[in-house]
Amino acid sequence: MGDDAGKRTFVLKGIGVSPGIVIGKVHLFDRFDARVSFYRLREKDLVSEEVKRFKAALKESEKQLLEVKNKLRELAGREPLYIIDVHLLILKDKMFINHTIQYIKDLCINAEWAIKMTIDRYRDIFEKVEDEYLKGRISDIRYVGQMITRNLAGGKKDAVPDIGAKGIIIAVDLSPADTAQMMINKVLGFATDMGGKTSHTAIVARAVEIPAVVGLESITKMVRTNDDIIVDGSAGLVVVNPDPEMIKVYDDKRRHFEIAQESFLKYAKLPAVTRDNYKVDIGGNIEFIEEIPTAISHGAEGIGLYRTEFIYINKEQLPTEEEHFSNYRSIVGVEGLKWATIRTFDLGGDKFYSDPKLAKEMNPQLGLRAIRFCLKEVDMFKVQLRAIARASAFGKTRIMFPMISGIEEIREAKRIFFEVKDDLITKGIPVGDDIEIGVMIEVPSAVIIADELAKEVDFFSIGTNDLIQYALAIDRINERVTYLYEPLHPAVLRLIKQVIDVGHKAGVRVAMCGEMAGEPAYIMILLGLEIDELSMNPLAIPRVKKVIQESTLEESKALLEKVMTFSSAAVIREFVYNYMRERFPEEFQTNGT
Ligand code: PEP
Ligand code: MG
Repeated sequence: MGDDAGKRTFVLKGIGVSPGIVIGKVHLFDRFDARVSFYRLREKDLVSEEVKRFKAALKESEKQLLEVKNKLRELAGREPLYIIDVHLLILKDKMFINHTIQYIKDLCINAEWAIKMTIDRYRDIFEKVEDEYLKGRISDIRYVGQMITRNLAGGKKDAVPDIGAKGIIIAVDLSPADTAQMMINKVLGFATDMGGKTSHTAIVARAVEIPAVVGLESITKMVRTNDDIIVDGSAGLVVVNPDPEMIKVYDDKRRHFEIAQESFLKYAKLPAVTRDNYKVDIGGNIEFIEEIPTAISHGAEGIGLYRTEFIYINKEQLPTEEEHFSNYRSIVGVEGLKWATIRTFDLGGDKFYSDPKLAKEMNPQLGLRAIRFCLKEVDMFKVQLRAIARASAFGKTRIMFPMISGIEEIREAKRIFFEVKDDLITKGIPVGDDIEIGVMIEVPSAVIIADELAKEVDFFSIGTNDLIQYALAIDRINERVTYLYEPLHPAVLRLIKQVIDVGHKAGVRVAMCGEMAGEPAYIMILLGLEIDELSMNPLAIPRVKKVIQESTLEESKALLEKVMTFSSAAVIREFVYNYMRERFPEEFQTNGT
């Protein structure tokens, strides 16, 4: 592939932390590469000057943060303000200031290095803290330290630049204040080497609605300022040097996304009930507990999939039981959420290789992942199961096992879970008495033996992302075969139908939590199949609710019946999109979107 200018087109996959699509020009921003200088003060007399310099930089930083805060107050909601407040508190923290001054005085060193030493000291302390959230807050202290250092170097010269209306920032990492500044400077979007969804930078990006992709590892080394670039924060993709055809496709997507966002939010709070009174439960899929407020505000009634493996992201160590517990406690029994479906670790596959036990495999999607890995590492598995059982004392909890391919796996997983639960009860530790147990149906063999699996569980949740991958033999992360990735393939529809029919016959509730559940074009088909729950990316909920509210079960069944008579995926796709376009002209104007 290549564009007219001969530049290579390439696509990078990262973590989409703030949805939306932007198309613009790269602006490489490498402040965080800057090294902190070290020097000794030539004379003891210079110490008081250095302390003064440090205090002046503190004042300047405070002034800048207050400026950002004031502008944000006018432009955005409460969340970014709170983050800036945290930074202001750090800036005024007596310990932080005193330690730094002490280093300057005792060691006769420059203020920049003294700040670095203070931050290192805090990092050592924070690393010992058990609580994951608190541990992550060292990044705030680092950001504040960088801000003061920047001001020591002479003010704003390294602040996020005003790069014009087409600018997209590419950086190693960014601070939340930088992100807020970006909104003020009207930066289109950003992409970074580092970062994950829990970082405050990501939270601010979502709050101020700047599309962003993080965790791209080395994008700063692969692009140059002024390269053309597309950031797709919804899909977690970045396209560098896109050809004109790609730009057109993404431009259509962008327009569609923006119009849709505006108009759908009003459907968020309404129940997902068809005109003829068929009710579907609506869940939110989350990777991080920070997404809960968005899930609730976008209309999730419960959490249908918590991808707990993300607790493990960017970590050297597996999470402790307390870390697991504090995460689960944040979604179980929370006001506004009626249930919480916690999926046990789905490590392996394309996710996270940082554990040596997850050594690189030739075919990771078919390798030692998910439940297979957990059943091999039983001690690790028990830590997670104990935490889930403890959290279940606080509200409606569903535990879900991923990648089940045979009956032995679910029996073994249950055996271990009940052992852990009984142990807790014996020790007098409270455990919920109505925990539901379910399996993800995402391997074709699980569909085929769904009747047997149904005897073991309370619910199924269809993971179409993997089910399609395994049923159609398409690597879900290989962009060369994505054209074959087709939820409307007749084989996929038959598999889904079989799971729902078999589940219902056995009295088992059937949910869907793969991406298919959040695609409005497929909703009537899923209604026709009488799915019990749809769980999706929270931002997709309002649109899906709209389709449900404006459909009837009767017409959905008729559509399904017709669709099931076709043998070709292409014919089904055309038929379904034509139908939906006619039925919902406002929603389905463009082909295939
Ligand atoms: C799926 O496979 O459909 C699913 C929901 O799980 P994940 O995308 O995490 O594999
Ligand atoms: Mg899966």
